[in-house]
Amino acid sequence: MKPSRTPIPANSPGFEFVYVANQRCECGGYFATVSQSLQDAPARPTERVLARCEACGAERTFVFDISSFFGKFERYDRFQQTEDTFRRAMAALRAGRPTEAEVALREVVDPEKGEPAFAWGYYHLGRVLLMQGRAEEAVGALERAAAIQPLEPDIHRVLARALQAAGRVEQAQGHLRRAEELRARFG
Ligand SMILES: [Zn+2]
Repeated sequence: MKPSRTPIPANSPGFEFVYVANQRCECGGYFATVSQSLQDAPARPTERVLARCEACGAERTFVFDISSFFGKFERYDRFQQTEDTFRRAMAALRAGRPTEAEVALREVVDPEKGEPAFAWGYYHLGRVLLMQGRAEEAVGALERAAAIQPLEPDIHRVLARALQAAGRVEQAQGHLRRAEELRARFG
C-alpha cells in the first residue's frame, strides 16, 4: 500500500481521524485508524497513522504534518470549531443562503483557521459556487476535493457538472465516466 508522499496538513488531532475515515480503499471500503506514532523528524513533527480498510482489511499509512499544533495544547480541540463552522455552512445552504454558506466553507478549508485537506469542505464550496453560476471557481474547489479523495464518485459527478457549466465538455465527460466507473465498481 502506498503511503502519502507529502505529509498531509492537519491543524488538529481530530482532523487526522476524519481525514482517514473519509479515505476510500481501492475496494470501495473506508479506512479506520489502527495506530498512530509520532515521527521525530528534525525539521517538522509528523505523525504516521496506520489504517485498515474496514471492508477488505488492506492497510495503508498516512503521514500528517502536525507542526501547526504539536505541543500547543490549546489547539488540540480546534477541529470542534471547524466542525461547528461546517455545520453552520450546511444550515445556511439548506436555508437558501449561499453567500453565508460560502463564507463559512472558505473558513472550513482555510489553511490557518480551518483544515486545508478537508475534501468535503471543498466539495460543498464547489456546490455553492456552482449554484451561484461561478462555474470556473467551482471547478477549482472541486478539483481540490477530487485530489484529496480521488475515489469518491460523488465528487467526480459534481466536478463533471461544474466542468460542463464552464464549457469544458471533454473534461466533464472524463469525470462523469470516472464517477460511473467507481460507482459500478463499489456497487
Ligand atoms: Zn478495501
